[in-house]
Amino acid sequence: MERPRGRGAGASADDPLFPVGQAPRCAGLDELDGHIARCRACPRLVAWREEVAGVKRAAFQDQEYWGRPVPGFGPADAPLAVIGLAPAAHGANRTGRMFTGDTAGDFLFAALYEAGLASQPSSRHTGDGLTLRGVRLTSPVHCAPPANLPTADERDTCRHWLSAELRLLAPGLRAVVALGGFGWRAVLPAIRGSGRALPRPRPAFGHGAHALLPPGEGLAHPLHLLGSYHPSRRNTFTGRLTLPMLVDVLRRAAELAGLPAGR
Ligand code: SF4
Repeated sequence: MERPRGRGAGASADDPLFPVGQAPRCAGLDELDGHIARCRACPRLVAWREEVAGVKRAAFQDQEYWGRPVPGFGPADAPLAVIGLAPAAHGANRTGRMFTGDTAGDFLFAALYEAGLASQPSSRHTGDGLTLRGVRLTSPVHCAPPANLPTADERDTCRHWLSAELRLLAPGLRAVVALGGFGWRAVLPAIRGSGRALPRPRPAFGHGAHALLPPGEGLAHPLHLLGSYHPSRRNTFTGRLTLPMLVDVLRRAAELAGLPAGR
């Protein structure tokens, strides 16, 4: 399990060592989310998220963009985590809440609602009253990347936040859904960083893939890892991912996590 070792302990928010210095020390999700929201460790992503927030899309000219890293969303004792890729430039980078305000979020929240995991089928802004039932939404990269494509260095720098989030969720966490191959590949080392061993060979991503990961140090329960295609515009508009396909994976994950069935 990743523990404080002093590396990056005194790093400022714009130092690449800020996540590795702060994340292992966090004692709760509120503290973690606070550090994430002020992180400036990746210069390219800081520049992009702030440029987008300043220029804005024409349709949102009257809105104040968040323009900062987007922390996870959902209860601190969630038995199920859903892990995407990164905030969208005019979605979560605008609204400040995971998957909120873009077409991927529209699709995901409709599926979460169908699976009984969200209080409403849409997610427009932070004041819309939406709550999640037993689910924590997060991502391996917390800043909007150009072309939705973080670099390997950015992914690895941000991974310390995800490892810490999974460590803090670990006592009650029973299942994780990774959305897309990027999320799947990013979540495996983060799961290892949260204190669990990974099977060899590493489980391969696919829609509907399922791997059972052993409990690891100090943890009583194994962890179910499931894969789904990402609800990106490309996947949903081409029919590669349909709503029933995503609902099926979420229902299966909810059942494995011990959450009540349906809505
Ligand atoms: S991507 Fe992650 S590590 Fe990089 S600046 Fe954003 S929050 Fe910090």
